[in-house]
Amino acid sequence: MRLDQQRLVITGAAGGIGRATARRAVAEGAQVLLTDREAEPLERVCVELGEAAQWLAGDLLEPAFCDSLAEQAASRLNGLDGVINNAGIITRGNVLATRDADWRASFAINVDAVFRICRSAIAWLTTQRQAGVIVNVASCWGLYPGPDHLAYCTTKAAVAAMTRCLGRDHAPDRIRVNAVAPNEVDTPMLRSGFEIRGLNVDTAVSELDASVPLGRIATPDDIADVIVFLCSDQSRYVCGSVIEVNGAKPVG
Ligand code: NAD
Repeated sequence: MRLDQQRLVITGAAGGIGRATARRAVAEGAQVLLTDREAEPLERVCVELGEAAQWLAGDLLEPAFCDSLAEQAASRLNGLDGVINNAGIITRGNVLATRDADWRASFAINVDAVFRICRSAIAWLTTQRQAGVIVNVASCWGLYPGPDHLAYCTTKAAVAAMTRCLGRDHAPDRIRVNAVAPNEVDTPMLRSGFEIRGLNVDTAVSELDASVPLGRIATPDDIADVIVFLCSDQSRYVCGSVIEVNGAKPVG
């Protein structure tokens, strides 16, 4: 198994990509601490995954929660080998439609929380383990902005840049920091966006499928498999990379 006995913490683990990643990681032998805002959906995932999975509810808007997450994970999992920073929010709007509150919340969850969790995890990993992995979930829209999502695209560009910086700075500590950059993935985040706009969700997803050269948008498992690869020794020479996972969808 590719993640045999790896102890990983996964944020946003009750959502589409997070849940798929938790399932894949446990199937590959990992012990996971799953975190998200609400306890109840996390409990359900843990019941499904059995004793390899534990949960911890918390709000990434709280700096103290982010700062303590690596320590809490290490204490619950009896050590820590890596972190998957998957949680995120998407806010729609061009600059004129972006309120201060949207901008602040987007940065707080998509960037500040990732920064704080990486900082505390790298402090723990360098002193206690002298190795480790971090996988951040960026977005193709952070590399090639999509329309009308200024705050989201800007935060995901920051995640990509942060990943490259951390990968470079901490390669000598044997901590590999990488990111995945998906394009559209069929998750609650994508579907709720269509609902908010009053669109027929299945029709909108079919239209998006047709825009992808591989013939469909991604499933959460398509992304989870790449995250698991980045946590595993199979990616031992991949460091500071942002891997586009987009079915060859053209940019722009
Ligand atoms: P999702 O909405 O299904 O899951 C996101 C999870 O993050 C949710 O469970 C949510 O509760 C959690 N979260 C949000 N704010 C939080 C907070 N303050 N505290 C704790 N948890 C919080 O979305 P998803 O599509 O699975 O997204 C996962 C990641 O993938 C995100 O970073 C997203 O930006 C990225 N992504 C998604 C797509 C897509 O098309 N779905 C494309 C590119 C990148």
